[in-house]
Order: sequence, then structure tokens, then C-alpha cells
Amino acid sequence: MDDSLMATRQTMPLAHVCGRVCPHPCEDACRRTNLDEPISIMSLKRLGADWETDHGSDFFHPMEKKAGIGKRVSVIGAGPAGLTTAYYLAAEGIDVDVYEELPVLGGEVAVGVPEYRMPIGKYNQDIECVRDMGVNFITNSKINADDMRRFEKEYDAVMVATGTRISKKVYCDNERPEIKGYWGAIDFLDKVNLYEKYGYTISKEEQEENILTTPYVDLTGKTVVCVGGGFTSMDVVRCAIRANAKKVYMIYRRDEKTIIKNTTYEEYHEAVEEGVEFLFHSAVAQMRDEDDILKSLLIDKFELVPDPNGGRPELVKIEGASYEIEADYLIPAVSQSADLKLLPEEWEIEKTSWATIKTNGKDYMTSRKGIFASGDCEYGPMTIVNAVGQAKRAASVMARYVQSGEVTLTDDEIMEDHLRKLRVYDKKEKVTGWLPGVPRQHSTVLDVEDRKYNNKEVNLGFTQEEAMSEAERCMRCYYIAMVQA
Ligand SMILES: Cc1cc2nc3c(=O)[nH]c(=O)nc-3n(C[C@H](O)[C@H](O)[C@H](O)COP(=O)(O)OP(=O)(O)OC[C@H]3O[C@@H](n4cnc5c(N)ncnc54)[C@H](O)[C@@H]3O)c2cc1C
Repeated sequence: MDDSLMATRQTMPLAHVCGRVCPHPCEDACRRTNLDEPISIMSLKRLGADWETDHGSDFFHPMEKKAGIGKRVSVIGAGPAGLTTAYYLAAEGIDVDVYEELPVLGGEVAVGVPEYRMPIGKYNQDIECVRDMGVNFITNSKINADDMRRFEKEYDAVMVATGTRISKKVYCDNERPEIKGYWGAIDFLDKVNLYEKYGYTISKEEQEENILTTPYVDLTGKTVVCVGGGFTSMDVVRCAIRANAKKVYMIYRRDEKTIIKNTTYEEYHEAVEEGVEFLFHSAVAQMRDEDDILKSLLIDKFELVPDPNGGRPELVKIEGASYEIEADYLIPAVSQSADLKLLPEEWEIEKTSWATIKTNGKDYMTSRKGIFASGDCEYGPMTIVNAVGQAKRAASVMARYVQSGEVTLTDDEIMEDHLRKLRVYDKKEKVTGWLPGVPRQHSTVLDVEDRKYNNKEVNLGFTQEEAMSEAERCMRCYYIAMVQA
């Protein structure tokens, strides 16, 4: 178990997270799929992390922390990207200060992902593992442009890992933030999670803004409509069910297949079981209020019309099919944008067309020397594993940069980028393989009645026997790559 955990932590310090809420793109590249079904890699990784926590062991770090080298880095944001950068830099003997605006550490995995998917006790273990490497955390500290100017002088390098915490609009008629009942997904989930996980209550003023009568989110008797189709919207609707809403709708422009692709098969079906009603090929056309209090929504229906030239089918509004639904809350969860006000204007840091921070996607340095960026504020709202992968690479580059002033990649990193481009796994390859037909194990999930009105963890993970049986399905596909100069 300790070997397995250390293997995970070589590239991903947040082992509990990796074993629970990762969309596991690694399983899409598992060669066993060509034989029957991919190995359940995510669930297997969960075991090592749980084993360490349940046994109260010291943290199994995959490397020895190096002696201090007299260099300092500041990291802005304590989400997956910030935590990862900090962990691998600290391992190199660099002093790391992580500044976090919120009173709690962990970014969206702490205040976005709900307790029933990622228990905070487990996530806190991942965060403690990072602290154990010698990282210094400063919470309740929102960094602004003046701080950044100061940091540039005081630190040898700076990592910006501030995520994308601004909910985008749905772009319908009468979409006015002052209408009571209009509640951005990020703020809604902040309120739910800060109370459920940490006991932070909602102020009187914010209760009033969000038509609540309790210092926590209680939606008894309310109809909640969420617009989305990704992780965030799925968390909104399932939290609304747990907050006792009378009726919960998810409005999505596309179809069931696409929503499953955006999240996971399990997540979608669990939401359906819990009573969320999905309205596909639909969009909110108008918010209808009385004296700035939301009353109902006008919904447009769409259909997919094939392109006669063989291109992608187009979504076309069905005239005369629009209808009205009663709604107390409209929660937009379509996407998020980055708040980059902390970057001093005179630095003229380059941005992407999506208004995220531009880097070359390889060394993660911005257009300003010594200022790096990783995670969602660089890529746009994505996944934990994407943020961690970027931050791990950035930490490696920064560790060399603070000593030499040069931005370089190692041979292994150059090779990694080539292999990613070449896509070594051939989905069409005929594989005869090992133990064909032995089915993939599925972990037990709490019954719907046992989970619907509380925050108990839904997915119970593998037993040891299930894990052994699943691990035996592995075909041990080792690939050797060679480069000729
Ligand atoms: C509700 C929800 C559910 C999700 N579920 C999943 C999932 O199941 N699986 C998955 O892989 N991905 C999921 N994601 C996406 C995933 O959470 C993100 O991709 C990931 O958290 C990005 O990490 P990050 O470190 O870049 O940013 P974040 O996690 O957003 O962390 C950024 C941190 O920076 C802090 N910050 C911002 N500005 C400042 C400032 N000026 N000063 C100091 N601190 C600042 C923020 O408070 C925050 O803590 C989900 C996202 C959401 C919103």
C-alpha cells in the first residue's frame, strides 16, 4: 500500500482527491479497454490514501526533502494547483509561502466539491501532507496588485494559481443580478460547503440577498433551476436536493450522452436517482420577476438538425415550443472566468482569448519574467488532474529558475511532451491479453434513501478483496520510447 501511495504522490500529492473525484482520464488510455473494460485506476488509488489515514501513519512522501537552498517562492491560491506547486518546490529545499483569500485551504475541491463526494476529513489529510513537506500557509489573505509588486522583489519567483471563481451568466432576457433568487453557482456552493464542512454561517445581509431564513442553505419548499452540464452544475443540483428543495431542475442545451461525457456516468445516474429532473435540449430564454423577486422562467426547446453537407448537426430552436416553469432560484453554472485584478496593469501580462493567463503550456512562465501561472487561471475551468499536472511541471521549472534565472525543461519533460502529442495508445490495436472477460469491479454506493438527505459519502470504495481482484486484471503494459538525435 505504501509503495502504491508513494507512486501516486510522485506526480499527484493530493492522493485522497485522486482516488475519489478525479474524472480519471488515465482510464481512457488503459489498453485493457481493447480487451474488455479499463482497469478501475481511480478506485485502486483511493486504497493507498485511505490505508495511510486509517492507520494514522506518518505521511509517505515519495522523496526526501532536500536541505534549504536559501530561495523563496510565493504561491497565490491554495487550490490543487497552488498546493501541488508548493509541495514539489518545498521538496527541493525552497521556502514556500502560500497565500489564500478564503479562511480555508483547498480551493474548489474544498468549497466547490460537496462533502458527500469528497469528505473534508480526507482532503485535509492531503493538505496536511503538503504542510508536512514544510509549506507555510497564510489564509484570509486576498493578494492585490500592490502585494504582487512587493512579492516580485521579495521572492525569487511567484506562482499565480487563483483559479476561475466568477460564475458566468446564462445570457437570457432580464438576467439581472439584483433579482433575488439569482445566485451564481460558485457563491451558492461556497455557502453550502463553508457551513456543511467548516460550520461558517451566512450573515443576515447575505440571507436577505438570497431569500434565506436560516444562517445556512435550507431550500425547503423552493424550486431550484440550475443551468449547466458539467461538474459544478451537478454539485449544485445534488446539494439543492440535500437542502430539501421541493423541485430541482437541470437545464442543458445538449443531450444525456454529452452530460455524461462532461461529468461521469455514475454522477449523472446518482443525480437522477436522487430526484433531479433533467431538461435536455433546453435553454432559459427569460427570467420573470415581481418586484425583483424571481417567480418563473421561460424555457426554449431546441432540436438537433443534421447538416446536409455532413458537418456537425446544429441546435435549432423549435418555434412555438417554449414554456414557463415556476422558479424560486436560477443558478447559473455554465462556466467560470478568472479574476485577474491582482496582476499589475503596467506588467501587461499576456492573456488568452478566454481571458486567462497566457503561457506556452510547457514551462508555465507568463510574459513577465519570474511570474508563473498554472491551473484553471491559466487553462480555464478544467479538472483537478489538469491543474495538478500543470503545477507539477511548473514547480520543476521554477526550482531550476530560482537558481539559474533560466527557464528550461529536462530531457524527460521534453520526451513527455512528444509522447503526449504522439498519443502512444492505439485504441484500434487488437489485444489478446490476460484473463479476458474478468469483469471490472464496481465499488458499493450508498442506497438512494440512505444518502439523499444527508452528506454521507456516497461512494464507499473497494474492499480489499475487490481491490485485489481488480488489480489482477492489469496487463502491465510497459512501453519503451526511444529518441534518436
Ligand atoms: C463545484 C465544482 C466541482 C468540481 N468537481 C470536480 C471533480 O469532481 N473533478 C475534477 O477533476 N474537477 C472538478 N472541478 C474542477 C476543479 O475543482 C478545478 O479544475 C480545480 O480546483 C482547479 O484548481 P486551481 O488550483 O487552479 O483553482 P481553485 O481550486 O479554484 O483554487 C484557486 C484558489 O485561489 C484562491 N484565490 C483566488 N484569488 C486569490 C487572491 N487574489 N489572493 C489569494 N487567493 C486567491 C481561491 O480562493 C482558491 O482557493 C470542480 C469545480 C467546481 C467549481
